[in-house]
Amino acid sequence: MDAAELSQFLSLFDRSEVRVSLFDGNDRLRYANRSFRAQFGLAENATPTWKEMMLQARTLGVGTKAHTDDFSAWLNAALSRRGKFPFKGFPTDMLDSRWLWMTETVNEQGWMLCIAPEITSFMQQSELHTIAMDRDIALRSANTDYLTGAMNRRALLSSLQLIIEEHSLRSVCLLMLDIDHFKLINDTHGHDVGDQVLKHFVELCASLSRRNDLFGRIGGEEFAFLLPGTSVETGLALFTRLQSALNHTSLEFGDGNVRYTCSGGISCSIAGDTPQSLMKRADTALYHAKKNGRNRCHT
Ligand code: GH3
Ligand code: MG
Ligand code: MG
Repeated sequence: MDAAELSQFLSLFDRSEVRVSLFDGNDRLRYANRSFRAQFGLAENATPTWKEMMLQARTLGVGTKAHTDDFSAWLNAALSRRGKFPFKGFPTDMLDSRWLWMTETVNEQGWMLCIAPEITSFMQQSELHTIAMDRDIALRSANTDYLTGAMNRRALLSSLQLIIEEHSLRSVCLLMLDIDHFKLINDTHGHDVGDQVLKHFVELCASLSRRNDLFGRIGGEEFAFLLPGTSVETGLALFTRLQSALNHTSLEFGDGNVRYTCSGGISCSIAGDTPQSLMKRADTALYHAKKNGRNRCHT
């Protein structure tokens, strides 16, 4: 396509009723056509991240309908699933009662093209409507940790299996994380504050991860990052950023506050690895990090 053709292409995109948008590897909006901007209440030159866009749309009373009272848990769950597959298509309903068939295409650099035609008239046939909502709820509960909205152990392990198969020639780095002295936080401040710490940790980790990273809760106060196509150095750098963010954070609640740290263990895939063998090595590294004084990461 030459420059003149490209310009025609883009000007028609802008007129199309099909919602079109482009997000970069940091999930920041780089292009949206007119109908997409109208749907999400975006100003002409606004370039929010997807999360910022969703939060802003919600305050404007436009955009996606969240079928829950806990919007932030819904948003975290949606974020943990967003852009993790090369292609995904699903029905989604908007606060203005329209339905879109949202498609997301993601490349190796983590850029995402979203193309969404309107399917309201189809969805008004009531069975389809119910099936779509049930499917969304089922997907969410099967793959998502209820408390934090992060991916759960099951989803993380099956993704790890897929990544190991797909990336047989490139390594996968696994960073396991465990919050230090978490039992003490529960015992000192109560279980509810413990829960808030877990949610806080998940939000922080989500803010540090790139599009192609996967993050989830393995159980209790244990979490893991899967970093496809990267090496030990990437995992260590991520741990250092997390450690420094925690260093500068004090979580406020009621009339108190809590500071906490975490320990990490890193393993990188080698030929013949299974999800279990990779996790076992990360677990051993984590054990050494704990034994050597916590608030550190071993490989
Ligand atoms: P270490 O530094 O060695 O990791 O010590 P720790 O206290 O963090 O680890 P330990 O395994 O002794 O304690 C983990 C605690 O996490 C015990 C359990 O009650 C608590 N826990 C597990 N799941 C939840 C949860 O969903 N919410 C809360 N508030 N606590 C949880
Ligand atoms: Mg633990
Ligand atoms: Mg712990």
